[in-house]
Amino acid sequence: MSQKQEAPSAGDGRLDLQADCGSCFGLCCVALPFAASADFAVDKPAGKPCGNLQADFSCGIHARLRDKGFSGCTVFDCFGAGQKVSQITFGGTDWRSAPDTARPMFDVFPVMRQLHELLWYLTEALSLPPARPVHKDLRRALKETDRLTRGSAEELAQVDVAAVRQEVNALLLRTSELVRAAVPGRKKNHRGADLMGARLAGANLRGANLRGAYLIAADLTGADLRTADLIGVDFRDANLSGADLTGAIFVTQAQLNAAKGDAATKLPTGLSRPAHWK
Ligand code: SF4
Repeated sequence: MSQKQEAPSAGDGRLDLQADCGSCFGLCCVALPFAASADFAVDKPAGKPCGNLQADFSCGIHARLRDKGFSGCTVFDCFGAGQKVSQITFGGTDWRSAPDTARPMFDVFPVMRQLHELLWYLTEALSLPPARPVHKDLRRALKETDRLTRGSAEELAQVDVAAVRQEVNALLLRTSELVRAAVPGRKKNHRGADLMGARLAGANLRGANLRGAYLIAADLTGADLRTADLIGVDFRDANLSGADLTGAIFVTQAQLNAAKGDAATKLPTGLSRPAHWK
């Protein structure tokens, strides 16, 4: 949330899709709800500003989020949706100085976030040479999704995000197949699998399909995840120490931030080693 994200250093055109909290009106810290848990120290309903949000929309405990029980804030990524809503959809008018804008702004933010997440994946897919057979369709989807993000607040509120997601997902699936087909040998399919706490140290998951798998607290120490499809994988507290994620596709900085790792973990291009990794 506000100024919480350990920023990626994406070099494949995804730079515009990383959070710029200084240009955002703290939207994730207001619009979204959270419940007291291991990830958040307190309850907060949607639309109510977090008690740590400052007058300038920065976070008052930014440097101590994990220590203060707000680790959930360190693993959220708006993919640049916050500054888009703040500066483009609402033209730089903030919800504090213009309270009438608060409700529509908070309603539009989750829509924009989902569209920006799709832009992130589509941009990555277009950077993958094996996906060349679908690049034309990917470019068309990217253009159309980008167009949707530039609509008015009213237009954004009407977007059928589920339909857009379904269309984009079909292209991302095809991209995944093309990319992983280049990996020799038999590839594992753990799509959507419940692998919570699984002992996968040293596992050969090269080129595997792990889409949407639950790898919460899994031991992936030294695992080979090269060129694996990791879209939507839940890596909370998974141990990626010494794991090799070179060429893994559809990984986000938030996924890495939620995991454990170390200096030996090999990361996909464009993502940064989280500060809390020893
Ligand atoms: S603690 Fe509150 S203000 Fe700080 S990042 Fe989290 S939600 Fe935002």
